[in-house]
Amino acid sequence: MSRVLHRSGAIPPVAVSGDGIYLHTADGRAVIDASGGAAVACLGHGNRRIAEAIGAQAAAMAYAHTGTFSNQPAEDLAEIILHDEPGGLTRAWFCSSGSEGNEAAIKLARQYFLEIGQPRRVRTIARRQSYHGTTLGALAAGGNMMRRAYYEPILSPAHSLVSPCFPYRFKQDGETDAQYLDRLIDELDREFQRVGPDTVTAFLAEPVVGATTGCVAALPGYFRRVREVCDRYGALLILDEVMCGMGRTGTMHAWEQEGVTPDIQVIAKGLGSGYQPIGGILIHDRIVKALANGSGGFLHGQTYQAHPVACAAALEVQRIIREDGLVENVARMGERLETALNDRFGNHRHVGDIRGRGLFWALEFVTDRATKSMFDPSVNFNQRVKAEAMARGLAAYPMGGTLDGKNGDHIILAPPYIVQAADIDTIVERLGDAVDAAVRGL
Ligand code: PLP
Repeated sequence: MSRVLHRSGAIPPVAVSGDGIYLHTADGRAVIDASGGAAVACLGHGNRRIAEAIGAQAAAMAYAHTGTFSNQPAEDLAEIILHDEPGGLTRAWFCSSGSEGNEAAIKLARQYFLEIGQPRRVRTIARRQSYHGTTLGALAAGGNMMRRAYYEPILSPAHSLVSPCFPYRFKQDGETDAQYLDRLIDELDREFQRVGPDTVTAFLAEPVVGATTGCVAALPGYFRRVREVCDRYGALLILDEVMCGMGRTGTMHAWEQEGVTPDIQVIAKGLGSGYQPIGGILIHDRIVKALANGSGGFLHGQTYQAHPVACAAALEVQRIIREDGLVENVARMGERLETALNDRFGNHRHVGDIRGRGLFWALEFVTDRATKSMFDPSVNFNQRVKAEAMARGLAAYPMGGTLDGKNGDHIILAPPYIVQAADIDTIVERLGDAVDAAVRGL
């Protein structure tokens, strides 16, 4: 009996403690947390330094309203992330989740255009099969068809969607990468024209699409050309790095590998490693100046924004990442993970694609590699792999609806940045056994 309303009907095992890459359950199992939940626990579990930073801040001063006070952890957190003004980003605004971060980004884009005298700009354009959050604004802006389905009638029409850059599924036979890119950019341009270029506030995209399609990076050059379209029409570029940011792909920001810089960047999961709920936006100086020269502030506040205890946790996480050179470890261990996955699954009859960056990798499952045909959704293949993995002491992050919100299965690995070579080998071995067992169980 549980009085908690769980995600699915079943009551999941109770996790009671963690150390490093392991979580321990109340019934005595040790499970490798090979995806940090949803690419969250980037420093693993049971880190004493972070726990002590949280305790010290809670004891010193747990809360002070941001309408009247600032707090030192928020100041220091913004400073550690932005002191070298990456890509011209100069200010941070902190909230408690990725959804709230995207809500703030969408609203800030709207306010920016009011500040600079372009009040007609109200719309965003994003991509199908990308997720920007579960709250109504972020859900309306995003293209996660599975999560939108029930709520479609209450989602704002101020947003529209174009195709994702997802070569494995959507590059046509006989089409070159360059032709595929031309087609996508042409579609984006036409969408600007359709809705009216002077009505668009921003294009919103995940540099590496996370849970919805499973670690799909765009083709080289895609984001540079997206940026050109945005610049041509005077729209902002919002990059949602909630899942792929803060070191996950082997650089601190995923956009560093794309040759573009965002006007607003959304961050969350790896920011606080799950030790506290925290998200935020990083804001380009151009927008900061427009606010300063206009109304003076951001007309968007939350009671728990820049929460001192959450910021203290994230500050300690960010210090550890820098002191221990962990983004470098992500890049190093990422190469090992890529090799290990290709060795184990490169010829697997039911793995159609192996893709990702850094410590952010996915397998996409198929019934036939040549035709890329998918399991019937009723088979729930990704959940079968999850169950077989759990039976072998491995927690990974599975999802269905890879293609369109209904069809397709994938599973994500996003191990902590502290992972070592032997851990990678164990993770891939257990996942291999789990996939084979799921196939046998069909
Ligand atoms: N944006 C992306 C890319 C995400 O992956 C997620 C969560 O998975 C969100 C936004 C929403 O974040 P949260 O669940 O913290 O509200």
